[in-house]
Amino acid sequence: MKKLNLAKLALVTSLSILLFNCEKDSEDFIEANQNVTAKNAHVCIEKWDTNQSKAASLKAKQWEPGQTIRVKFLNGNSYVQSKVRQYAVEWESYANLKFEWVSSNSSANIKIGFKEGQFADDGGSWSYLGTDSNNYSHSMHFGWFNNNTSDTEFRRTTIHEFGHALGLIHEHQNPVAGINWDKEAVYAYYAGPPNNWSRAQVDNNLFRRYEKNVSNYSVYDPKSIMHYPIPAEHTTDGVAVGNNSRLSATDKSFIATIYPGTNTGGGNCDGVSEYNSNASYSVGDKVTYQGTLYQRTSSGWNNLGACDSTPVDICSGVAPYNSNASYSVGDKVTYQGTLYQRTSSGWNNLGACGS
Ligand SMILES: [Zn+2]
Repeated sequence: MKKLNLAKLALVTSLSILLFNCEKDSEDFIEANQNVTAKNAHVCIEKWDTNQSKAASLKAKQWEPGQTIRVKFLNGNSYVQSKVRQYAVEWESYANLKFEWVSSNSSANIKIGFKEGQFADDGGSWSYLGTDSNNYSHSMHFGWFNNNTSDTEFRRTTIHEFGHALGLIHEHQNPVAGINWDKEAVYAYYAGPPNNWSRAQVDNNLFRRYEKNVSNYSVYDPKSIMHYPIPAEHTTDGVAVGNNSRLSATDKSFIATIYPGTNTGGGNCDGVSEYNSNASYSVGDKVTYQGTLYQRTSSGWNNLGACDSTPVDICSGVAPYNSNASYSVGDKVTYQGTLYQRTSSGWNNLGACGS
């Protein structure tokens, strides 16, 4: 394949996805009108391990840095499985974790179902948090994926659910989130389809914020993949949040602080070779081309975005130490260019910022 063809193909692919999105209603992401899509977005339901109190530490649900997490599919056709796998692995670029994709009859940590067969009645998308996944034979679910789903939607929901599986909570429930909800408007909206939620469910899924001492809170990030979309009509100040479908800069740096030690340096193109017209590529292979990262699909190349050579800074998103604040075990601060984490007896030095 000639370089020109690659560029053309990428352009045609992106155009066709755009057109497809414009024709389709519901969950798809249309950058030009985020507020409209925010109003129609499917949102995920947070799952809690009912054997434990909700006050149980979210930090306790994290995997070990460097761990290999075994993942399997319980059902679903090869296409939807390949899409989940294609997007889930984006986390591996920033977290010091590896996914091992095992067959359906193998033991696994994360067990994924789709809305069909034995799970045909579950139209929601959800995941248990972190290592809670170990306790369930069906730990993650995609309730609206099928062969007609757009890549944007596959990316948005897959990365979001895997965020939960890595222990991340919803960003709008970040202890430091400052969203001025128009609560009655939100209750009214979520009372309707496809959610049909009670006021209590809305309280739980949207308004409840986590305690600082149970969460890995960082600065509030409205661009986070873990944020629900919020239309302007749902806030008293008209502030809206789009249907985020990519990892934000803070998502990348934050997951790197939870699972430190990855040696990629955080650059999404690090270790990826330049496209070679004489090479043959398989689905899933990545190349760089004119400063952009592409991944091979069954029909062409998927544009994964511009190469970002900025290394992930372990201190990114972490607030400086404030002598007037009170800190809980697990809280992180920066102080004189170094990252520290609060322990029961003092502060643990996690290393210099910028590394
Ligand atoms: Zn969620």
